[in-house]
Amino acid sequence: METMTPPSGFTGDSGVSADSAEARRYNRLLRRISVADLVLGIALMGVVLAADWTSDFRNFAVHIVGDHHAAALFVYTTILLLLTKAFSLGLDYYSFLIEHRYHLSNQRLRSWAWDQTKGFFLSFLLSQLLVQVVYFLIRSQPQWWWVTGWALFMLFSVLMAQIAPVLLFPLFFRFRALEDDELTARLTRMSEKAGAKVRGVYEWMLSEKTKKANAALMGLGHTRRIVISDTLLSTCNHDEIEAVLAHELGHHVYRHMLKAIVVQGFITFFGFWCLKLAVRWAALDWKRYPQIDFANLPLMILVSTAISVVLLPVMNAYSRFNERQADLYAWKSLGTVKSFCSAMEKLAAQNLSESEPARWVEVLFHSHPATGRRMKDALAWAASRK
Ligand SMILES: [Zn+2]
Repeated sequence: METMTPPSGFTGDSGVSADSAEARRYNRLLRRISVADLVLGIALMGVVLAADWTSDFRNFAVHIVGDHHAAALFVYTTILLLLTKAFSLGLDYYSFLIEHRYHLSNQRLRSWAWDQTKGFFLSFLLSQLLVQVVYFLIRSQPQWWWVTGWALFMLFSVLMAQIAPVLLFPLFFRFRALEDDELTARLTRMSEKAGAKVRGVYEWMLSEKTKKANAALMGLGHTRRIVISDTLLSTCNHDEIEAVLAHELGHHVYRHMLKAIVVQGFITFFGFWCLKLAVRWAALDWKRYPQIDFANLPLMILVSTAISVVLLPVMNAYSRFNERQADLYAWKSLGTVKSFCSAMEKLAAQNLSESEPARWVEVLFHSHPATGRRMKDALAWAASRK
């Protein structure tokens, strides 16, 4: 166990508390884990391709089920998924230990293992579905599979965004209608004022797993809802919760989810086009895997991973832009930044997040502007109105 240093309590000129050594260490560890996870995944797929284990896996699958294409693909994908999970499990467990080491987790090992199992089966089902559709299209539309694949992928993404709050998240977390009547009335009034057709405010029972706090706008259309974690409800007062909700309503008012889907549409179109090029290259130039040979799957995984890594800073910048827009909406609709700033400060402390990370860290890793920056911007906005 590392020794714990108490929060420094230092307050700089900006009025923002400097980060404790503990927060810096914790966030550095999280970054290293995510980079290690990525490198491990890329290395594994690289070896599977370079050593041509992928052909061995394909031959084994065909040996087991015979020439039935879909069944062989199922066996092959299962091998790949199990192998990947076996490699990442160590880091997953290490993350679990880190959360405990920094006193951020309330989760027992058994509950964590159950979550891991459910998570694996969920990604197993979705991955199997995805590869079956992709290779069915490659076989039936050798020229245009990537366009049809992209269109189906987008349809599926929208469907998932819609059903996730009612089908997927409840697999891992409990939700219930917010019980605080006064708060519910306040939040509902705010939502109506914002013209948001939000179907309910829910309490997200996060304290069963973690001490961290969170709030989000989830779902699309009929499943659109605001969720606030019980951990946030227990540390923030009503004004601060209202400030958090005002930010979430900002996302709604500016249609950020719809815009994100459109942006995602362009990126995945480019992604599927790159996949087509890669698959053709493996067949015609590398002369290793014909287009319909699913042994080329690790190549597709490598290409998709490379694209998402390269685009991550861009996507994060886009996300931070949206977050700043939602913040501005919150300050305007509240007419004050006081409760927003105190909520930010409490959340940063509760989540052990870095208020003032190095600029490169923010650019590469953060989907939200750092708390310190958000508070400074809020104070600057308030000062500009005086
Ligand atoms: Zn946000």
